[in-house]
Amino acid sequence: MIKQNYQKILNKLITNSFAELEDYKIYILEKRIKPKAMVKYYPWARVILVNSKVRKAYSIPAFKGLLAHELGHFKIFKQNNWGWFNVSLDYIHYLLSPAYKREVENEVEKIVIKKGFKKQRDLSHNIKLK
Ligand SMILES: [Zn+2]
Repeated sequence: MIKQNYQKILNKLITNSFAELEDYKIYILEKRIKPKAMVKYYPWARVILVNSKVRKAYSIPAFKGLLAHELGHFKIFKQNNWGWFNVSLDYIHYLLSPAYKREVENEVEKIVIKKGFKKQRDLSHNIKLK
C-alpha cells in the first residue's frame, strides 16, 4: 500500500459506507503507535492514527476492515452528539473500565458487521504486526 493513498481510501470508504460521517472531516496519519490503529478526537480535528507497520503488512481489503472499525468509534461519538469534551470523558471511562471498554468494542463490531465489513475486519484481525 502507498501512504499517499490512505486519505483517498478513507474518503471513499466514508462516502460509500459511512455517509453519516461525511461532514466530520476525518484525517488519517501514520504514526509509531502500539495498536494497529486508533482514533483521536481533537477540538480542531478528528484523526485516525495508523501504525506505521500496517503499510507493509496490509492488503487494501484488510486496511478497509481496519478503517471500518475506527469509523465505528466515530459513529458512536456522532450518534451520541458528543463534542470534544464528552469524547474526552468517554475516553477516560474507556481507559479505566475494562467492562466499559469491552462494551464499546462490541458496539463498534456490531456497526462494522452491519455495514458489511465482517470479511475485511477478519482479514485485519488475522494480521500480526512484527
Ligand atoms: Zn476499537
